[in-house]
Amino acid sequence: MGKIVSISNQKGGVGKTTTCINLSAFIAAMGKKVLIVDIDPQGNTTSSFCLVKDKNSLNNTIYEVMMGDATAAEAIQSTSVPNLDIIPSTVEFAGADVELMGETNREKILRKALSQVRDKYDFIFIDCPPSLNVFSVNAMTASDSVLIPIMGDFFSLEGLSQLVNTIKLVRKRLNDNLSIEGIVLTIYDGRSNLTAQVTADVEKWFGKSVYKTRIPRNVRLSEAPSHGLPILQYDPTSKGSVAYMNLALEFLKRNGFKNAQPLKNLSSYKVKIK
Ligand code: ADP
Ligand code: MG
Repeated sequence: MGKIVSISNQKGGVGKTTTCINLSAFIAAMGKKVLIVDIDPQGNTTSSFCLVKDKNSLNNTIYEVMMGDATAAEAIQSTSVPNLDIIPSTVEFAGADVELMGETNREKILRKALSQVRDKYDFIFIDCPPSLNVFSVNAMTASDSVLIPIMGDFFSLEGLSQLVNTIKLVRKRLNDNLSIEGIVLTIYDGRSNLTAQVTADVEKWFGKSVYKTRIPRNVRLSEAPSHGLPILQYDPTSKGSVAYMNLALEFLKRNGFKNAQPLKNLSSYKVKIK
C-alpha cells in the first residue's frame, strides 16, 4: 500500500510546489510508482507539467473528486515522466471549501477517495495550499506523514510552530497515524547568517527529522516550470537538480529503501525544449 505524504506549510513561496514536483520526479525515475495530488487551487503543480488549468480542457480534476463527481482513478493523468501520474487542480477548486461546508465528514473526503488508488503507487505526494484550511486538513487526514519545506528566515520559524500545532490537532481528532516525515531547508543560502541561525534552531527542535540535504537557491529550478518540465528533464545536471536527487535518496533510505542509488548518466534525462 502506497505511503501518502502531504507537502505542507501554510506559508506561501517556501518551495512546496518545487519540492513536490522534483522530489516526485526523481523518486519516479528511481523506479517507484508515484502519484502527485494537486490540492492547491492555484494549480502551480498542474501547470508545471503543462497541464492547462482551464477546466474546459481538463477532464476530471481534484474538484470533481472532492465534490464526489469523479473517482480518483477517473482524475489521474500521466506526465512527461514515466512512473509519475498526477491528479490536477483548477482555479474552480478555489470555491470548493464553501461548497463543502455542509458536508458531514468533509475532512475525510480525500482520504476516502485516495484509498481506492493507493495500492497502485509506492508514494502519493499531496501539494498543499498555503493556508490551513479544509483542503490542507483533508490532505493531512489522508496522509501518513507531512513533509515540511521551510526557508531560512525568521517568519519560517514562527509558522513552523503553528503548523506543528495543526498536525497535533489533526492527529488527535482525525488521523492518529499522522507523523512528521521530515523538514527540508529550501531556497537555501549558505552564506546568510540568518539562515545559519534558523537552521541551527530548526535542528535543535527537530533533530534527525531535518534532512541533511539542503536545496540551494538555483535559478534553473525556477525556470523549469515555464517549460512544463521537472528539473530532471529541464537541466538534470544543475545544482538544484542534484540537490533534489540527493533529497530523493535520503527520503527513500529513510523509508526503508536502503539500496536506493543515484541516477546514472543524469544528462540523458534532458528533454529537448520546444
Ligand atoms: P510554494 O509552493 O511553497 O508557494 P514554490 O515552490 O512555488 O513555493 O516556490 C516559490 C517561488 O520560488 C517559485 O517562483 C519557485 O520557482 C521559486 N523557487 C522555489 N525553490 C527555489 C530554489 N531552490 N531556487 C530558486 N528558486 C526557487
Ligand atoms: Mg505551491
